[in-house]
Amino acid sequence: MSSTTSVDLLIIGGGMVGASLACALKDKPLTIAIVEAVPLHSAEQPSYDDRAIALAYGSQRIFQGVGLWPQMKPHATAIKKIHISDRGHFGITRLDHQREGVEALGQVMAGRDIGNVLAEQLANQANVELLTPATLSQIRYIDNGIQAQVMQNKQVLTINAKLMVAADGGHSSVRQLLGIDSDSKSYQQSAIIANITPSRPHNHVAYERFTDSGPLALLPMSDNRCSLVWTQWQQDVEEVMSLNNQAFLERLQSRFGYRLGRLKQVGKRTAYPLRLMQAKEQIRPRLAVIGNAAHAIHPIAGQGFNLGIRDVSALAECVSDALANEQDIGSLSTLQCYAEWRHQDHSEVIRLTDGLVRLFSHSDKLLTLGRNIGLTAVEKLPPLKHLLSRQAMGLRGRQPRLNRGLPL
Ligand SMILES: Cc1cc2nc3c(=O)[nH]c(=O)nc-3n(C[C@H](O)[C@H](O)[C@H](O)COP(=O)(O)OP(=O)(O)OC[C@H]3O[C@@H](n4cnc5c(N)ncnc54)[C@H](O)[C@@H]3O)c2cc1C
Repeated sequence: MSSTTSVDLLIIGGGMVGASLACALKDKPLTIAIVEAVPLHSAEQPSYDDRAIALAYGSQRIFQGVGLWPQMKPHATAIKKIHISDRGHFGITRLDHQREGVEALGQVMAGRDIGNVLAEQLANQANVELLTPATLSQIRYIDNGIQAQVMQNKQVLTINAKLMVAADGGHSSVRQLLGIDSDSKSYQQSAIIANITPSRPHNHVAYERFTDSGPLALLPMSDNRCSLVWTQWQQDVEEVMSLNNQAFLERLQSRFGYRLGRLKQVGKRTAYPLRLMQAKEQIRPRLAVIGNAAHAIHPIAGQGFNLGIRDVSALAECVSDALANEQDIGSLSTLQCYAEWRHQDHSEVIRLTDGLVRLFSHSDKLLTLGRNIGLTAVEKLPPLKHLLSRQAMGLRGRQPRLNRGLPL
């Protein structure tokens, strides 16, 4: 790429969401550039790391529509059932793929495997240029476009685009450079992740268990491993991280119980501080903010990337429709179509995850009783259970073409 260049679409951030957007637009008559700070195969890549991602059924269908599911499937483990319980209390809810008439409620994939599939597609995609390692340093508006200055190999590149997409994560530099404010609060909690090997087969069940030391999830993975996401209050994180493997497994066993038999082995542990962040503007003329750059949420229900990939499918459809109608892909009307489409899903998922964190972070007797009555009600009332299953599967609201497994 020369020192000044023009593209149709400039994506800042080639993490899970930014790279997926470029892949979704693979067959469209567009020139696309992605600016990514950390090479996709690097061990330091912050998006494609050791965390396991629970992909909802709806997200699997999006990757089917994009044409990448055949490459992803060998790395994925199906979630056939979800078991939700409150430690030491009576409430239990069980969701089942058969009841919903689908092969699986979702799939679990390591972030690194998602990254490898996306990176291979980008390397073979004619309409994309991936600039990495490269970072954004300036943005300004120009006639009929937006201009970015990007640092790569100590050189400044100037890139003009019709549309810029900020997919550069929770600490988005696009938001900072353009002065886009956000609402943000720390949960004073961190999520500890690790792979666990239990003595009994997981049988493709995902467990979500609310405990007095925070919610924990065990997601089924290959070779009968389970991926643990265990929320801890900030003041306890250091102590739990410093436990030796045996003591860590004992602590976990005492909170989770013996549904998976004895917890035998634990892999590398990593802690992620948790916060809720929502950008105050999702669009401006020639700009869309998507994925974690627009909304970073608690991983309590494994919804963050699922929400981000639904941003991708809706934006890809708005861009594709604009192209088909010979409209400007960066015009405010194209972007308003996107923002209005996404508003309800964003609000619902943020309300749901934030509400769950608050509901299950308290030991107040009345609240505990209320949430256990809630879990029992969902278990006993099929319409409620169906509603919760559809939410977990990412199937609520008006579905873009990709969400129905159809090409753009
Ligand atoms: C413990 C944990 C467990 C989770 N589990 C799940 C789950 O089970 N299911 C689920 O759906 N979600 C889950 N999530 C959420 C999920 O990880 C995020 O939603 C997802 O990573 C967001 O992707 P993104 O591409 O928007 O942002 P990021 O992953 O943050 O990627 C941003 C990218 O932008 C790049 N970048 C940043 N700044 C610049 C710059 N200035 N210039 C160029 N590039 C830049 C970064 O290098 C990075 O590659 C979990 C999160 C956590 C913390």
